[in-house]
This record gives sequence, structure tokens and C-alpha cells, in this order.
Amino acid sequence: MKAVIVGAGMGGMSAAIALRQLGVHVEVYEQVSENKPVGAAISVWSNGVKCLNHLGLEREAAELGGILDSMSYVDGFTGDTMCRFSMQPLIDEVGQRPYPMARAELQLMLMNAYGYDDIHFGKKMVAVHDGAERATVEFADGTTDSADIVIGADGAKSLTREYVLGGPVQRRYAGYVNFNGLVEVDENIGPATEWTTYVGDSRRVSVMPVAGNRFYFFFDVPMPAGVPFERGTAREVLAEEFADWAPGVQTLIGTLDPTTTNRVEILDLDPFDTWVKGRVAVLGDAAHNTTPDVGQGGCLAMEDAVALQFAFRDHPDDPLAALAAYQSARTERAGDLVLRARKRCDVTHGKDPEKTAAWYDELRGEDGTNIIRGIVGNIVGGPLTS
Ligand SMILES: Cc1cc2nc3c(=O)[nH]c(=O)nc-3n(C[C@H](O)[C@H](O)[C@H](O)COP(=O)(O)OP(=O)(O)OC[C@H]3O[C@@H](n4cnc5c(N)ncnc54)[C@H](O)[C@@H]3O)c2cc1C
Repeated sequence: MKAVIVGAGMGGMSAAIALRQLGVHVEVYEQVSENKPVGAAISVWSNGVKCLNHLGLEREAAELGGILDSMSYVDGFTGDTMCRFSMQPLIDEVGQRPYPMARAELQLMLMNAYGYDDIHFGKKMVAVHDGAERATVEFADGTTDSADIVIGADGAKSLTREYVLGGPVQRRYAGYVNFNGLVEVDENIGPATEWTTYVGDSRRVSVMPVAGNRFYFFFDVPMPAGVPFERGTAREVLAEEFADWAPGVQTLIGTLDPTTTNRVEILDLDPFDTWVKGRVAVLGDAAHNTTPDVGQGGCLAMEDAVALQFAFRDHPDDPLAALAAYQSARTERAGDLVLRARKRCDVTHGKDPEKTAAWYDELRGEDGTNIIRGIVGNIVGGPLTS
């Protein structure tokens, strides 16, 4: 059995490791020429960490993961704590700590686990076709490769998805821009082992720890799509947007490196149930492009990889049956999380300001029970968290 995987993001690399564990011959093709992911870090929730552990990366993931012992919400203007609670009930319930990780380090961990030198960098896929015996990909340099299956892990703007669905789809702007980066831990912003989130005015400013005494930070700012931005000006933009916010937020704005701060317009895609066309399948953001509001996009990609492995374990000699099993194992869960994230996004970012104000009131009376229940609800339901 041979598999071609297009895209060396966290989905493609997890799938490559997962299929290799079964003894499948894997070839990975990636359009960029080196490991340079866009975005500073992600929170890998317990379901994602369990997938990494399953791929043999338990020690490595724990080394890269920040220690998140508690979580708090803070009034963005006054700096008053609205609620603070331990993560231990969540860890006890799902049996695994979550690990926020720097994105480049997570990617490199996966690439090294597979074999960095085995990845074909600088290979941009320009077409994919299904066939009776093999599926084939064509690259911009005129070369091709064929295999029993092609897995399109080619991200949110996936070409493979276009092939599988028979045409392009329109992604939806979620109404806000996310600025993100890494800074050294500074307890004036938030405690070193806490996920601290300042909220107010339908905005959000958050820090959470990653390994190496660093905070992953992000700012969510609702605004129309297409507002011009010049890279390197994040500090001025954020200083203006958050001028009257609490001292912790001012410290963060003063500390961040504007030259490495990313700015992303957040989009998502309505869920769809066709992930497979013959021997060609989508995986990761190619299959489910979600807003980051429940921090599950990358975790879902890792779950897809494990589910794909289980499907091939159960149908070792029948790629069509395996891909059908993969699709039926995944579409409902992924679609559910895309819609949950969209709902969370709307409340956080003031789609209906009354609902957002009611959420702030709830946070002031929260002891953690409801929030942890919500996060556990996102974590359970995957291939290793059923
Ligand atoms: C601001 C933000 C915050 C997020 N936070 C979290 C979080 O906290 N937790 C979480 O779990 N998720 C989070 N996510 C989501 C997560 O980043 C994605 O779900 C994840 O990166 C998807 O991985 P992937 O491998 O499917 O796609 P990608 O990481 O996009 O990788 C796709 C790869 O395919 C390559 N490629 C594309 N087209 C081609 C082609 N034609 N030929 C060859 N190669 C190609 C690309 O170069 C890329 O390397 C966040 C996303 C954003 C935007």
C-alpha cells in the first residue's frame, strides 16, 4: 500500500506518521521549501495530545507543552479578575493535560518523527485525479506521483477539496482579526501557568504558557474584512485599539515584537460530508476549516490522522473501504466542532451585543464548572476520547 500525502502541516505530518506505523509506504509533498508555519502557537487540547502520544510522541509533546494549571477571565478595562479556576478537574476527567505549543516547534517535532529529509519540499501540487487502480498528483515542476491513495492535507485553501467536491467553495469571514505571537513570560500580564483572558467590548486578549518560559499571546479585534495592515506596525495598531485597557494589556503591547507579530483575518467554512472521491481524500483544514474559537482545528487534524490509521487497520487491503470508513468516522464530529466554534466566536465577538454582555455577567459568577464542561464537551468524541 502506498499513500501520497499533500501538505506537511500538522494534519499531513500526523497522517504520514500514522500510516507509516501500519507499514504503508508514504510520500509527503509540501509546496514551501522549509518548515515555516504561519502563526505563533496553538493550544493542543487533551484530545490532540492523546493523538500525539498515540503517534509515539508522548515525551516530545510534554517537552514542548506549556504547563496550564489554571484559567482566568479578567475585565479588560479594570483588570479585575472575573473568575479563576483550576484545570485539574478537566485533566482528571479526560485523563490528559492540554499542551499549548509553539507552532514551529510542534511542526518540527512531527517532521522529525517522520524524517525531515524524507519530506519532498518545494513541490506544489497543481492537480489531482482519481483512477481505477491509482490516484495521481501533478506538481508545478511537471513531475507526477501515483499511489493507492492520495490524502490532501493541503490546508484551508485546499485544491484537493475542490477536486473532491467538484468545484471551489466560498469561505466565510468570521468578523474579526487575530494578532498573535510569542513573548517572554511576564507575571504583570498573567500568572506563568495560567491561561489568562482579558475580555471587554467584544474583544479578547489572551496569554497562555508554552515551553521555554514564553507566553503565546493573541488579540481578537472585530473589524470589517480587508482593512489594510502593514507588517511591523502591530504595536501601534494594538496600542490604539486597546488604548484604555488594563495595565496587563499595556504591558503585553509594550513587550511584543511587532516584526514577528502575525495578523490573520479569521474565516471558516460550512461543514460538508463528502471528504472522499474514490482514492482521494481530504484531511485537516482541507476537510473542516474552523474559526480558532474553541482551539480545535489542529486537534481535529490530528484526530483525522488517527482515524485514518484505524480505518486502514480495519481494511488493510481495501483502500476504498478504508477511506469510506474514515469519512464516516469523522464528518459528524468535525462539523459539530466547526459549528460550536462559530457559535463561541459570535458570543465572544459581539455578533449580538446583548449575548456578549450576558456572557460577561456569567463569567463574573463562574466557578469554572460550566467552562470546563464546555471544554470537555469539545475534547470528547474523537478516536481516542470516545
Ligand atoms: C489564529 C489561529 C489560531 C489557531 N489556534 C488553534 C488552537 O489553539 N488549537 C488548534 O487545535 N488549532 C488552532 N488553529 C487551527 C490550526 O492552525 C489548523 O487547524 C491546523 O494548522 C490545520 O493543519 P493542516 O495540516 O490541516 O493545515 P495547514 O497547517 O494549513 O498545512 C497545510 C500545508 O499544506 C501545504 N499546501 C497547501 N497547498 C499545497 C499544494 N497545492 N501543494 C503542496 N503543498 C500544499 C501548505 O503549505 C501547508 O504546509 C488556529 C488557527 C488560527 C488561524
